[in-house]
Amino acid sequence: MVSDDVRSDPRFMHLSTFMRAPFINDRSKFDIAMVGVPYDGAVTNRPGARHGPREVRSASSMIRAIHPVTRSNPFELCCVGDAGDVPFKNLYDILKVHAEIEDFFQILVEDGLMPLAIGGDHSVTLPILRTLGKESPLGFIQIDAHTDTWDSFMGSGFSHGAPFRRAVEEGLIDPRRTIQIGIRGAQNSMEGWNFSEVSGMRVVFMDEVTEIGVNAVAEKAREIVGDAPTYLSFDIDGLDPAFAPGTGTPEVGGLTSVEALTLLRNLNGVQLVGADVVEVSPPFDPTGITTLTGATMAYELLCLLSNHFVETVS
Ligand code: MN
Ligand code: MN
Repeated sequence: MVSDDVRSDPRFMHLSTFMRAPFINDRSKFDIAMVGVPYDGAVTNRPGARHGPREVRSASSMIRAIHPVTRSNPFELCCVGDAGDVPFKNLYDILKVHAEIEDFFQILVEDGLMPLAIGGDHSVTLPILRTLGKESPLGFIQIDAHTDTWDSFMGSGFSHGAPFRRAVEEGLIDPRRTIQIGIRGAQNSMEGWNFSEVSGMRVVFMDEVTEIGVNAVAEKAREIVGDAPTYLSFDIDGLDPAFAPGTGTPEVGGLTSVEALTLLRNLNGVQLVGADVVEVSPPFDPTGITTLTGATMAYELLCLLSNHFVETVS
């Protein structure tokens, strides 16, 4: 199959794995697991994110190893592999799907692997947090057009608009160590925005990002999460649809690709225990730019995770 030495082969070759990393068939040999979570049964509008992992894998063959700014190489710092997709047995029941995601990530985490997930709709982050935030509530950095703290939609409290309200209620994230960045778009009620603010989250609306700049936003994020375990969730709709049109709930007026890269690079040193890129919807991505952007953001997250991994073991 795919082995480490494929990196010197042409990038259009071989079976596709995330960033051409080897497939994980022995978990004891790996430090970081990239995982596909191909589920979009919890969307409130446009579907398609179930196709995200497969298309991001394909686009991620464009990713090379050495970071252009830090010059670090995550594939040398750590053993990075592709753990495949969460194997679903119950695709038509959100609660059962979430339980299957939780079980899969639980095994990875018990075996000492740090997860980098590729969604899937944003509901998939909740079961990942149930694994990682089990012991004590995590700090949480969310890049997103939406707070995803709405209570319920069409009779379910587990849509992709609700995961972080549930995560607060279940004690998985600490709202006082949570920052939501890039929030925008009109809403029919203020319930979600209000929940975020009343629970103690720092909500950085897009107009504030524009006013103070992403360097200052990154500084706030570092202050808020502090020196304790933190999870980073990157909803691709945090980006402007000019840069990432292939997503379920696009909102005009978001981050540029450069702003997002700068923001992530300024988070180096945060004690990340895991991360994800979600809401990439290939059917709404005619040029493939969203999958490439998703793969590129995932690479930046991999660099943050690998840098932190090396700090914790040294
Ligand atoms: Mn979201
Ligand atoms: Mn969103």
